[in-house]
Amino acid sequence: MARVYNFSAGPAVLPEEVLKEAAEEMLDYKGTGMSVMEMSHRSKAFDDIIKTAEQDLRDLMNIPDNYKVMFLQGGASQQFAMIPMNLMKNKVADYIVTGQWAKKAWQEASKYGKANKIASSEDQTFSYIPDCSDLPISEDADYVYICENNTIYGTKYKELPNTKGKTLVADVSSCFLSEPVDVSKYGIIYGGVQKNIGPAGVVIVIMREDLITEDVLEGTPTMLQYKTHADAQSLYNTPPAYGIYICGKVFQWLKKMGGLEEMKKRNEEKAKILYDYLDSSKLFKGTVVEKDRSLMNVPFVTGDEEMDAKFVKEAKAAGFENLKGHRTVGGMRASIYNAMPKEGVEKLVEFMKKFEEANA
Ligand SMILES: *Cc1c(COP(=O)(O)O)cnc(C)c1O
Repeated sequence: MARVYNFSAGPAVLPEEVLKEAAEEMLDYKGTGMSVMEMSHRSKAFDDIIKTAEQDLRDLMNIPDNYKVMFLQGGASQQFAMIPMNLMKNKVADYIVTGQWAKKAWQEASKYGKANKIASSEDQTFSYIPDCSDLPISEDADYVYICENNTIYGTKYKELPNTKGKTLVADVSSCFLSEPVDVSKYGIIYGGVQKNIGPAGVVIVIMREDLITEDVLEGTPTMLQYKTHADAQSLYNTPPAYGIYICGKVFQWLKKMGGLEEMKKRNEEKAKILYDYLDSSKLFKGTVVEKDRSLMNVPFVTGDEEMDAKFVKEAKAAGFENLKGHRTVGGMRASIYNAMPKEGVEKLVEFMKKFEEANA
């Protein structure tokens, strides 16, 4: 068995320790004589799993008591509809469009009310984050929406937008638990876990309690009401039980690693290795404005499509997988989430240097 260095944007690399533990517990989870996949979600064993997972997440992110944590399904994409259905009381929301995921969320919200695009970076292929210090926030906006880390384009908000008092809603799918955040600045902070936390199939929604009401758009299905899931502690119906179990293991791994301050330090170190090389290289270059660079997703190009393809092919043969960039950007993208070891980034840069020499 040989593990590769997996630079996939998602589903993505998970900590090897977590996978090994899950393998050990596969046939008999803690003396229950069954795997977590096979047990009732109403069992004592699963109750411990989901409660511990929630508490560990609360500890890691310092989640205030007036926020609910929900483990849901439907991917981040389902939230694109669930958010307006539950929050658009005035039927007005402001969207900052910094990439494809924010754009999809904005388009979906337009089905339910007036979704204003108050800023965008589409003019430059989403290679930067617009200045959000004084945006034309709508007076009757129910919320302001951002995608905090743009997985495809490799940009990240270094400062949250000035929402002028309106509720901030953020998709953090690809930067979840990569660094400390102040949860109290958000009304909703949510993400699909398959980027930086666990297996596809779980979405975590952290939501301020006063926003969770029965006053939702007419016709909103029971399953798409936050109140349904908040009241039932994520057990209204069968939750994605195995996925939640793996997320819980990742939370424990993060705690053992030293928490989010430590992850931030490690992620900055890893990203610096790659960005420093990109800045010095004559062959490769990063595609994002320096001040807005993501710590998690690093797109780069050679400027020559054939050379890009050659690089991706040779990298794969050398054990560096999933480096091909998103089809809308081209080139390459290295996703270097929490579980990517520093060694993986160092080896990638070594390989890139050799490739550059050989193709000078
Ligand atoms: C991957 C991704 C999504 C879409 O996630 P699904 O779970 O496939 O719906 C949404 N937003 C961001 C930022 C992503 O990276």
